Amino acid sequence: MRYARVIIDISAEQVDRAFTYRIPEDLEDRIVPGVRVRVPFGNADRNRIGFVIDITDHVDFPEERIKPVASLLPKALNTGSELIELAAFMASEYGCTMNQALQTVLPVKKIIGKNRRRKDPVRRIEDLSGAEAVQDEALNPEQASVCASILRNSGRPVLLYGITGSGKTRVYIELIRHMQAAGKQTIVLIPEISLTYQTVRELTKHLGQRVAVMHSRLSQGEKYEQYRKAADGEIDVMVGPRSALFTPFTKLGLIVIDEEHERTYQSDTSPRYDTRTVAAQRAAMTGACLVLGSATPSLESYTKALNGEYDLQVMKSRAHPGALLPSIHITDMRREMERGNRSIFSGMLQDMISDRLERKEQVMLFLNRRGYAGFVSCRSCGTVIKCPHCDVSMTAHNNWYIDPYTGERRAALLSCHYCGHTQPMPSSCPQCGSPYIAPFGTGTQKLEQAARKMFPAAKILRMDADSTTAKGSYEQILSSFQKGEADILIGTQMIVKGHDFPKVTLVGIVAADLSLNTSEYDASERTFQLITQAAGRSGRGSRAGDVVIQSYDPSHYAVGLAAQQDYERFYEREMSFRRLLHYPPDIYMMQVRIRSEDEGMTAEAAELAAEICVREFGPAGAILIGPCNESVYKINDNYRKILYIKHSSHDIIKKIRGTLEEALSARFGGRKVWTAFDIR
Ligand code: ADP
Ligand code: ZN
Ligand code: ZN
Repeated sequence: MRYARVIIDISAEQVDRAFTYRIPEDLEDRIVPGVRVRVPFGNADRNRIGFVIDITDHVDFPEERIKPVASLLPKALNTGSELIELAAFMASEYGCTMNQALQTVLPVKKIIGKNRRRKDPVRRIEDLSGAEAVQDEALNPEQASVCASILRNSGRPVLLYGITGSGKTRVYIELIRHMQAAGKQTIVLIPEISLTYQTVRELTKHLGQRVAVMHSRLSQGEKYEQYRKAADGEIDVMVGPRSALFTPFTKLGLIVIDEEHERTYQSDTSPRYDTRTVAAQRAAMTGACLVLGSATPSLESYTKALNGEYDLQVMKSRAHPGALLPSIHITDMRREMERGNRSIFSGMLQDMISDRLERKEQVMLFLNRRGYAGFVSCRSCGTVIKCPHCDVSMTAHNNWYIDPYTGERRAALLSCHYCGHTQPMPSSCPQCGSPYIAPFGTGTQKLEQAARKMFPAAKILRMDADSTTAKGSYEQILSSFQKGEADILIGTQMIVKGHDFPKVTLVGIVAADLSLNTSEYDASERTFQLITQAAGRSGRGSRAGDVVIQSYDPSHYAVGLAAQQDYERFYEREMSFRRLLHYPPDIYMMQVRIRSEDEGMTAEAAELAAEICVREFGPAGAILIGPCNESVYKINDNYRKILYIKHSSHDIIKKIRGTLEEALSARFGGRKVWTAFDIR
C-alpha cells in the first residue's frame, strides 16, 4: 500500500503540517511529489485541495483510519521533489508556513481554458524585433577567461562584476551553450518585466527556439504552457523575474541572476524571500552553478566575494570593438538657478540634446521618480532636511495643510523613519534662508512636456509605470526606440537597466540626487547604482557617448564616484559608513512591521515586541531602534508601526523573529494584528 503526505491548501497555522492519505490503485503512477490532489478534510464532508509533498509505504497508525485521496487535479504538472525541498528551506529561512512556501514554488494553480490561437510570448518578441539568427562574434579574451573559470568552478556562487557594456550577456550565452551541450538547463533571472524583451531577443538570436519566458503578465494558460515545456524538457532556457527561479527543470545546470543588485529580487509578499539566497540553495541542492551578474554589485554580494564566500570574476572593458566609456559631465543645478535658468534642463544638456537631434543620434533622459517621495529640499542651495540623529533625510508626512498666505499645499510635519524624531516643516531654508523650500516633486510626465516644448521637432517616447499598463506596451515602446522611430526616450529606472541601444550617444540624468534623499540607509548605494547604470547606456556602439548628470549635490561621493565609474572606491567609502552606523551588510537588520485597524492594539503589539527584544536579547547584544510610526502611518484604515532590530548573528536574528512571532500570536492570536519580518 502507498500513501501520500499532503499539505492542505488553507492559510491557517494550525493545519500547516502534512496529513497522510492512501493512494487509490488507479492513481498510483500519477500521484508524485508536487501534484495537487483533492482530499477529504475536517468534519465537513468536503474535499479540500492539497499539495503532495512526499510518498511513503508505511504509516504508524491503524490503516482503517486513513482516508483515500479523492482525486488528482487535472493536468497536474510533475514538478519533482526538488521544489518541495526548496519550499521547506524557505519555510524555515523566512518563517512562513509550508503552505505559503508551496504556493510560491508551485505557482500555477490551474489551467484556465486553452488559448491555442494566442501567439507564444517568445514568438511575439521575435516578430516585433525582426531578430534573425546571427553569426557569432568570438568572445574577447576577458570574456573567454571568465567563462573558462566559471566552468572550472568549485561550486561556490560566482559574482560576475563586469562594467556596463562589458558583454555579460555574451558570457551568459556561452555558459548556456555549454550547459546545452551537456544536456542541462538554465534559468536566467532579470530584475523586471521591462527587460524581458531585450533579454529574450538577445538569447533567441544566439540560442534559437529552446527559450521560454515566464512573468506575471502572462495568463494562467500561457504560464502553464511554459512550465509544461520546461518540465517536459522541450526547452533549455527560462527567462523571467524572480518567480522564474521556480521553473520545474529536472536537469538544472545553471542559474543566472542578472543585475543582481536590484531590489526587486527581494520578495515583498510572504514568504519575503531573497532570490539570491534561494537560488544559492537550489543551486547547492542540484549541483547547478549560480552566476550573479552586475556592473554595480550590491554591497552585500561584493562583501561575500571579498570574504571568499563567492568567487569573484571581473570584466573591466567594453566589449563592442571601438566602444569606449562615455565622457561624463556634471552640472550643478544650483548654479543654473543662480543664472536664472529655472527649467528642468541645464544649459549643457539643452545644447547636447540639440546637437544629437541634428546628428540624428538618440537620447535617453532618465528621472528617478520612485526616489523622491516626500523629502524636502531647498531649490536655491540644494540643502535637504535631515534627521539630526540618523543622517537620513526627513520625510514629509501625509498630513498636509494649505498655506494661508500663498494658498500652497504644504506638509505640516517632517519625521525620521529610523528614530521617530519629528519636527515642523520649515518655511525657509535653514542654510540660506531661501523661501523656495518644498517637498520635491517633478515627474516623468512633466519632463516629457518640457522636452516637447523645448524640442518641438523631436519624436519623443515615454516609458514609466503609467505608459506601460497595457499588455505588450513595454515591447512596443522599446522596439520602436530600437528601430529608431523616436529621437528621445524618457523614463524612470525602467529604461536604465541593462538595455542596449547602440545609437544612443547621450544620456541625461535629470535629477541625479533624487534617490539620495529617500530615508533609507542604502540611499547612496541606490544612487550610485542608478547613475552608473544610466551612464552605462551611452556610447555602447561605435560612436562616442556623453552623459550629463544634473545634480543639486555634486560633491556627494555617490555622484562623484559614479561619474568616475569607480565602484571599488565607492564600496570602501560606503562600507565605512555602514560599519560606523551599524547598517547591513556590516550586521543583520530585521524590520518588524506591525499593523492593525485598532490603533491601540498596534501600539501595544509594538511595545510588546520591543520589550521582549530588549529583555530577552538585549544581553546577547541585540540593538533595538523604535518602535516608531511608519512614514505613512495609516493605510487602508490600518495603523502601522515599525521596529528595527540589529545583530551580527543571522541565527540570533532568526531566533528573535521566532520568539516575537510566538509571543505576538499568543497575546493577539485571533485578533487582527499583522506582522511582517524582513531580514537584510
Ligand atoms: P552588459 O550586459 O555587460 O552591459 P552587453 O552584454 O549588453 O553588456 O554587451 C554590450 C554590447 O557589446 C552589445 O552590443 C554586444 O552585442 C556587444 N558585444 C558583447 N560581446 C562582444 C564581443 N565579444 N565582440 C563584439 N561585440 C560584443
Ligand atoms: Zn537653501
Ligand atoms: Zn532619526
